[in-house]
Amino acid sequence: MRILLATLLLTLFTINGYAQNEPYQIDVTKLDSGLYLYHSYAEYKGNKVSANGIVIEAGDSVVVIDSPWDNEQTIQLLDWVEAEIVKPVAAVVITHAHNDRIGGISVLHERNIKTVSSQLTKVYALKRGFEAPKKIFEKETTLNVGEVTVNVFYPGAGHTVDNTVVYISPYEVLYGGCFIKSSGAKDLGNIEDADLDSWGGSIKNMQRRFPAPKMVIPGHGNYTPGAIENTLKLLGYQ
Ligand SMILES: [Zn+2]
Repeated sequence: MRILLATLLLTLFTINGYAQNEPYQIDVTKLDSGLYLYHSYAEYKGNKVSANGIVIEAGDSVVVIDSPWDNEQTIQLLDWVEAEIVKPVAAVVITHAHNDRIGGISVLHERNIKTVSSQLTKVYALKRGFEAPKKIFEKETTLNVGEVTVNVFYPGAGHTVDNTVVYISPYEVLYGGCFIKSSGAKDLGNIEDADLDSWGGSIKNMQRRFPAPKMVIPGHGNYTPGAIENTLKLLGYQ
């Protein structure tokens, strides 16, 4: 019986594992005037997982925070911007060198779109076989898109050694990327490259730099309040 069950489970898992022949489709939600949240998807440990990214439209152009998970979905996102916003993408910020943030960088470079990251993300991108982002900063940089200010900040190591966060004014939205877990997250997710000892202190650095965000958007999952608090709790602070 046990063997039969195991075989059945294996069969189901296999069917599930190979059912994904269609490419994943990104989806986009409007958060505010000129501010959009998009999801891209990938299979992680046998499950379909979504990743959050941001599209900002202001003045004559668009800035994107994080590339979708792969080339195909990056093309979909650029097509969406072209069809729905009809303005050029001035830059894409890469918040760390994992697939869910940098997976489409070669498509961005083919289209001559400027990519922005920290020096550390450039180092890890090259280490992991990705193209290096083009515009590099050390600790912090600011991009102006029309009236909108996009502040990219390195808080210290956490989810990865190179993870950065982004503060978007005047919306007062703090985009934490994978450095911040959602309020509903039950664990810290992929911690293969994490620095668990530094992560909590790095969150404090982020809070000192951006003390009062109105909304916090994590790298995965929803943006209901309590994301920073839950991340600290999952790290054992309480
Ligand atoms: Zn990551």
